[in-house]
Amino acid sequence: MESNSIKTYTGIEKFNPSVIREHFPILNQEVNGKPLIYFDNAATTQKPDVVINAISDYYLNYNANIHRGIHSLAEKATEAYENSRRKAKDYINASSTDEVIFTYGTTDGINLAASSLSKAILNEGDEVIISAMEHHSNIVPWQMVCEERNAVLKIAPISESGELIYEEYLKLLSEKVKIVSIVHVSNSLGTINPVKRIIEDAHKVGAFVVIDGAQAAAHLDIDVKDLDCDLYAFSSHKMFGPTGVGILYGKRAVLDLMPPYRGGGEMIKEVTFKKTTYNDLPFKFEAGTPNIADVIGFGSAIGYIESIDIKSVLEYEQGLLRYGVSKLSEVEGLRFIGTAKDKVSVISFIIDNIHPFDIGMMLDAGGVAVRTGHHCTQPLMDYFNIEGTVRASLSIYNTREEIDILAEKLKAIVKIKSK
Ligand code: PMP
Repeated sequence: MESNSIKTYTGIEKFNPSVIREHFPILNQEVNGKPLIYFDNAATTQKPDVVINAISDYYLNYNANIHRGIHSLAEKATEAYENSRRKAKDYINASSTDEVIFTYGTTDGINLAASSLSKAILNEGDEVIISAMEHHSNIVPWQMVCEERNAVLKIAPISESGELIYEEYLKLLSEKVKIVSIVHVSNSLGTINPVKRIIEDAHKVGAFVVIDGAQAAAHLDIDVKDLDCDLYAFSSHKMFGPTGVGILYGKRAVLDLMPPYRGGGEMIKEVTFKKTTYNDLPFKFEAGTPNIADVIGFGSAIGYIESIDIKSVLEYEQGLLRYGVSKLSEVEGLRFIGTAKDKVSVISFIIDNIHPFDIGMMLDAGGVAVRTGHHCTQPLMDYFNIEGTVRASLSIYNTREEIDILAEKLKAIVKIKSK
């Protein structure tokens, strides 16, 4: 729910990056005396004015706690909060808002999934499969629950191009496997995993499937019904929304199996010192006062993405990706890390004899923001036998001109370093 004073964008049918750029006030600035070029979108995306305004509108005009109040502000805040849940449900094509749980982000969602699902179904000797390209957020929670429950964590291997070796994944599947948890899109490589097939094969052995959708939600058309996943986690801040909010989607039957994750207000039906009964879905998993303002901002971000049409976003970003790969190929000594056939617009690379941090710092001096390091995927870096990469992750407001500048700056860095 956005008040009349709040801008909305509807029906920007023909995708035009210069129109899009005007929606993101932060882009209009200089960094170190040069126009900002923001290529760190896999870490977090920038926020359009509609999202910023929706958050300040809540604090300026109807700040109140939700669900319990009967006064007008509380009702308005509750309606706005629940409206975000309806938008999220439609965005991922869930069957019901009961299946949409607000979390604090992907990491929080995966911890909820791992902790609660494992209590319901994981026993000694059972197996959990993840892949070799997981973010630490989809490794550590599973290591923790496997240790707690004496279960075994298995790793599905990948190839040099950064793709899952599918036959090896199939070989790991057996009746012992109770959970498969896989990243939809790799943050370090850009690889899009064939999650629909992965889920189908896991279900054949009776395993539950959790998907880490942190990098997928802003780039792909997510349809949880079509995927048939059991649980799907993602973050608002990687899709033009605020930090501190995310969603864990769960099939109702799976969420019904799972015990509550945190105890407190909101998640209860009735509390006595003898016994507590738990609230219905989705509130059973939402203990305490949630991040109301940012949930409202998240709803606005979903509205924003829908106004620009995710299919045209994909097409534009794929064009940028192809252009970026061809321009960066001109840089001497540059090697791409992650060359999967199916990729989103993430370009990770190393350059002979130049440390990624040095490249990152020199680019920053010229106003170009990239990420360097292991990108919270240390086992993946170990597989490639590297310390880290430079990662340029592209979004809807990036342009070919910006890629030209990146390529020129990289060529200059190579020249300076080879002297
Ligand atoms: N998984 C992947 C693939 C990611 O890229 C990230 C964020 N870098 C996460 C999980 C964790 O997301 P968050 O920090 O929003 O919890």
